Amino acid sequence: MALYATAASVLAGVEERRGSVRSLVYSSGFQNVKPLYALVCETRRFDTVLDAVITRAGLLRAEKKLRPHLAKVLVYELLLGKGFQGSGGGRWKALLDRHQARLKAELARLKVQRGVSCNEDLLEAGAKPGSAPQVPRYVRVNTLKTCSDDVVDYFKRKGFFYQGRASSLEDLRTLEGKHFLLDPLLPELLVFPAQTDLHEHPLYLAGHLLLQDKASCLPAMLLAPPPGSHVIDACAAPGNKTSHLAAFLKNQGKIFAFDLDAKRLASMATLLARAGVSCCELAEGDFLAVSPSDPRYAQVQYILLDPSCSGSGMLSRQLEEPAKAPSQERLRTLAGFQLRALCHALTFPALKRLVYSTCSLCQEENEDVVQRALEESSGAFRLAPTLPSWPHRGLKTFPGAEHCLRASPEATLTGGFFVAVIERAEVSSLASHAEALAQLISSPATRRKKRRKTAAGPGQHLLPCS
Ligand code: SAM
Repeated sequence: MALYATAASVLAGVEERRGSVRSLVYSSGFQNVKPLYALVCETRRFDTVLDAVITRAGLLRAEKKLRPHLAKVLVYELLLGKGFQGSGGGRWKALLDRHQARLKAELARLKVQRGVSCNEDLLEAGAKPGSAPQVPRYVRVNTLKTCSDDVVDYFKRKGFFYQGRASSLEDLRTLEGKHFLLDPLLPELLVFPAQTDLHEHPLYLAGHLLLQDKASCLPAMLLAPPPGSHVIDACAAPGNKTSHLAAFLKNQGKIFAFDLDAKRLASMATLLARAGVSCCELAEGDFLAVSPSDPRYAQVQYILLDPSCSGSGMLSRQLEEPAKAPSQERLRTLAGFQLRALCHALTFPALKRLVYSTCSLCQEENEDVVQRALEESSGAFRLAPTLPSWPHRGLKTFPGAEHCLRASPEATLTGGFFVAVIERAEVSSLASHAEALAQLISSPATRRKKRRKTAAGPGQHLLPCS
């Protein structure tokens, strides 16, 4: 499909909530994703301006066959973009040429009415460039295939400057150019400046690196299932967290991963194969219909529940829909599902620890869900104290809610996120959990030694772990 038609279909998909701009752009099959992504984001940024101009110019009335999303993309390109390009461009140019004078006049009139002189000033404050939150580019090293030391060496050889492990968030905030470092808290997480694009990088394409926000690395790190254990990933696709769990298991043990969405599961299968994950059983299905008494799940002691949510914390969502908050009705529906899924997860008989996470900022989907699920468990489960050094905590809406973690661009230099670690109350595993975490967040020297011992064999390495 040509650029403009593909952009229009991505816009329609985002509006119908079939996915984020990024995921729909990547699944569109369009070869040159960068200009496509930029065109979609820019068209969305000017959405209300384009709506006003198109309506006032009567474009859709005059061109009955022109669909609204395509009209927006074309009018963006004509009035605000780079002009028509590519083989399909000429056809659209001819169509819009007939309306060009009227469209330009309506844009000019809009500016006069709003008392502004340039196009950017037509935007709401939140949609202006520079007002979108900027966070570093986080890169998780896939320890199933390589180790941090080798990846660091590789980037150094390619002209990047390594600054060691960061000592504070301030080090991350000031990263620039070709400098990179290791995250101060998370093992195996490299941090590059925000504008670093590694989507076409050979190490990413070979599954040695995962482009995963730091906050989204917290759930697997806090669940930390030991090798050999059985884990359920209840809402798993597209599988970034599943592959992180598999790294903790060192591919030993079992991950039962569920998702309702066949398309997302298909991309998950590709992601897992690329990441060298071999301990995962994928199932297309409703997690709520998975029976806790099924003997297959008798040994499941760890569950990751990262259910569908409003996505109000997602940076791409904040860029794409700066002013849109989820409606109360949508929040009620989502929270209802999240609570059912969490209560269901807590009925698995051998469960010791569960991590609940969302990329939502809404209390209804986060603290409220956790509080109600704990109440319904009648004391069988409790919140585990987690990462005391993490600066952004759960809203104090119930006693203990401060054990939950929140993340945001301002406080933690990440996307907006929420995590709660829930443990079975009678298990004296608080100590063992704290122990596991202490080991994870141990000194760099200890980590280095352990990594060298545990990284996969040389046959699997694009970069042999020396
Ligand atoms: N954990 C994933 C990752 O890190 O890549 C992201 C999960 S996404 C936030 C939520 C997923 O839940 C979606 O892929 C959606 O299809 C799936 N989902 C929604 N309802 C479900 C259900 N009842 N059972 C299983 N999966 C479900």
